Amino acid sequence: MEKLKKLSLAAQIFIALVLAVIAGLLMQSHAEFAATYIKPFGTIFLNLVKFIVGPIVLFSIMAGVVSMRDIRKVGQIGGITVVYYFCTTAVATAIGLAIANLFKGGFPALETSSLSYEAPEATSKMDVFVNIFPSNFLTPITEANMLQVIVTALLIGFAIILLGDSAAKAVDGINLWNGIFMKVMEMILSLSPVGVFCLLCPVIAANGPMVIGSLAKVILAAYCAYVLHAIIVYSATISTMGGMSPVKFFKGMLPAIMFAFSSASSVGTLPINMECTENLGASREVSSFVLPLGATINMDGTAIYQGVCAVFIASCYGINLTPAQMVSIVLTATLASVGTAGVPGAGMVMLAMVLTSVGLPIDGIALVAGVDRIFDMGRTTLNITGDASCSIIVSNILRRRGAKI
Ligand code: ASP
Repeated sequence: MEKLKKLSLAAQIFIALVLAVIAGLLMQSHAEFAATYIKPFGTIFLNLVKFIVGPIVLFSIMAGVVSMRDIRKVGQIGGITVVYYFCTTAVATAIGLAIANLFKGGFPALETSSLSYEAPEATSKMDVFVNIFPSNFLTPITEANMLQVIVTALLIGFAIILLGDSAAKAVDGINLWNGIFMKVMEMILSLSPVGVFCLLCPVIAANGPMVIGSLAKVILAAYCAYVLHAIIVYSATISTMGGMSPVKFFKGMLPAIMFAFSSASSVGTLPINMECTENLGASREVSSFVLPLGATINMDGTAIYQGVCAVFIASCYGINLTPAQMVSIVLTATLASVGTAGVPGAGMVMLAMVLTSVGLPIDGIALVAGVDRIFDMGRTTLNITGDASCSIIVSNILRRRGAKI
């Protein structure tokens, strides 16, 4: 019954998406009306999603850590998870770059003098590392710095484990608050059909089908890379390390895939992703730690998108990327995807860091900004599928080693 409700929300979001395209096309001569009166409701929805991300990640990771009751176990699971996440993301970026180079001939060289995009200041790779560690207890949440939220959750979780029985009440409290915030998220997500409509309709009204047409090739390149990565990398890892047939895996993941595709939020897809992976046989203990962590740091789809867009933007500006620049893109996109929060549109903001790392003009983001939602639906789907594959694999590896999970 619960599953049916979630599925029907995914269907509702999808219908909203189609309606937004139709309404947007009909409203092309009233684009200003759409931007003034429809878009703000989309912004309210996005604000609410961003509002809930911090507490969800904080409490779900703390709950995941304390449920293991053993720091060594957290270290063991965390170690395999982080290595898997980094390797698959680097491979994803390389696939994205390879596919984009195949499509490059079809990318247009555009008139780029009028572009402008206010990009946030890009940070260096070393700063990204230093910034993982918070210098204040509250700012990770108030500034929605997700990596700092993860560090906070790990520190508190470890302390609770070390305190043992004397912190039993804290464990109950964390589980309770985790449930409360999950409920709040469910309430916010029930607004997603309206949110999706109000976000997309003004974009279509302002840009018309033309923008989608001229960007069709780069969108196609990204989707080819998403699909290839899922078929090649996840099928291989799931069948070799996960001990499961890829067909069974993708079939079992279908409800989460549909939800991620329509909502474009990894964090929003967390509860349904947990349900799907557990139905597929992942241990609850593993997925309650691996999935929230992955919803924040593991973004293979986002990395692919960043690689493809870097090649696209370079080609629009008539710039040819050197092999050294390509390697730099793989490294930066892997790091940038780690720092991306699992909410709609976050990956586009981090694209600035990738472009800066190879000296490409940040203004180029304006070229793809209008259709970001279309990229985002695919990249989020791949992001959550990668997280799920990890929880199946880690569960399988631990069971093979004789762990009782
Ligand atoms: N929307 C993506 C996600 O939630 C993040 C991104 O924008 O790339 O996984």
